[in-house]
Amino acid sequence: LPLIAVCGRPNVGKSTLFNRLTGSRRSIVGDEPGITRDRIYGEIEWAGRDARIVDTGGVIPDDEALIPSEIFRQAQVALEEADSIVMVVDGRTELASPDRELARLLLRGGKPVFLAVNKMDTQELLAGAENFRRLGFRNVLPISAEHGSGIGDLLDEVFASLPPEEVDEEPTEVMLTAEDEMAEDEDGPQPIRKLRTHGEYEQRETKIAIIGRPNVGKSTLLNALTGSKRAIVSPIAGTTRDAVDEVVERGGHSFRFVDTAGIRRKGKTKLMAEKLSVVMARKHLEAADVSLLVIDAVEGVTALDANIGGYAHESGRSVIIVVNKWDLMTTARTDGKPPADIKVYEQQVRDALKYLDYAPLLFISAAEGKNVESVFKKVELVARERRKRVTTGQMNRFLEKVDFQKASVPMAKRIRIYYMTQAAVAPPTFVLFTDKDVKMHFSFERFLTNQIRDNFGFIGSPIWFKIKARN
Ligand code: GDP
Repeated sequence: LPLIAVCGRPNVGKSTLFNRLTGSRRSIVGDEPGITRDRIYGEIEWAGRDARIVDTGGVIPDDEALIPSEIFRQAQVALEEADSIVMVVDGRTELASPDRELARLLLRGGKPVFLAVNKMDTQELLAGAENFRRLGFRNVLPISAEHGSGIGDLLDEVFASLPPEEVDEEPTEVMLTAEDEMAEDEDGPQPIRKLRTHGEYEQRETKIAIIGRPNVGKSTLLNALTGSKRAIVSPIAGTTRDAVDEVVERGGHSFRFVDTAGIRRKGKTKLMAEKLSVVMARKHLEAADVSLLVIDAVEGVTALDANIGGYAHESGRSVIIVVNKWDLMTTARTDGKPPADIKVYEQQVRDALKYLDYAPLLFISAAEGKNVESVFKKVELVARERRKRVTTGQMNRFLEKVDFQKASVPMAKRIRIYYMTQAAVAPPTFVLFTDKDVKMHFSFERFLTNQIRDNFGFIGSPIWFKIKARN
């Protein structure tokens, strides 16, 4: 579905507009002081067409110093993800410099942008909306999110700017049976086809989220990876206010570490720090392609690690498990035990994080800079793997070879797959055309996933399925 982003500084009525559009009143996600809101998605239908809408949110109003970077982040999210952007301003107040900054960033981005001048509740106020043309928008629309006026006109314009409706992902019969489709495959791996979704073609930049519970060494790892010595790393260090993302260029590939200020942010109490780590993980995952799930080697996988790992898995991002502080498990163990056996240790991690069986696992010491280099290599690998595309010809030849009798699925739960096709990359998503419109039995899904992995890899990435019954 096309995506519409709503941007704006705090208190302009962004959430009211968002709630009006989605009909939902529950847009507040995190209630932790200092992290008011996470990014929120909703769905909207207008003139017979569906779209998704995102409130870029996440503003930290009680911290003036963070506002510029927050504005920048919002604009970045909107420009990267959305097809069309609505910026909201308060029509009853003077323009503030964050408004101008946000407008400037959005207007430069080359996407359709609309200015909604909010709180225009009366006729007299309405005239004032014209003043906001100074921000440089061609499309200026007075609205009252509270009372609902002007919303229809706004939606008409925004929907008209969306890309044409996508064709159904169901492949045509022609595509499946045509000789050329089959012949094509004989020449070896196919180039990635150009897709509508941005960034799926020839990707040179990988966005990386460093996630994990407090004190596992996320900031230390970030410093080791970016070569930065600026951040103060200690369990009690406060917020480091610096650039939102940090980019490392290597061998023609950019590694973008998302929201590095967030990675370094520490909660004041243990409980707060733990909650914050979950909120941050979710936020960072949204902005990323690949996540580094950092585990403290001394403590092993805890419930909170598993929880955060679960979010990573569900997000569809690729995952690399990074066991950090391995230096403390080798010769110089502080607990007096003999050095840990790496194979045994890996098995323990695997057992505790079963659903991440596709994630490569690395042992590192961020503090000593050991094996940090391998992180870049693995990121590049999984970034490539998640964008891999299998042609329908290859897929169906594979399907013919699979012995589905081997899947331990009760007879009644079996489904017949007529054919399947890869509908999307990042994460690889397959559409299965089946005889029954039922959810796959979990052991069938696992069986199929393993078969796909054995044949095509997709290292580090979850694999998603969609079922379509044919009748
Ligand atoms: P974060 O909360 O996940 O960002 O964790 P920090 O990066 O702040 O690290 C927490 C503590 O663990 C700090 O005292 C670090 O010096 C220490 N630490 C981080 N990485 C390593 C490592 O590889 N080995 C050892 N021995 N200590 C580390």
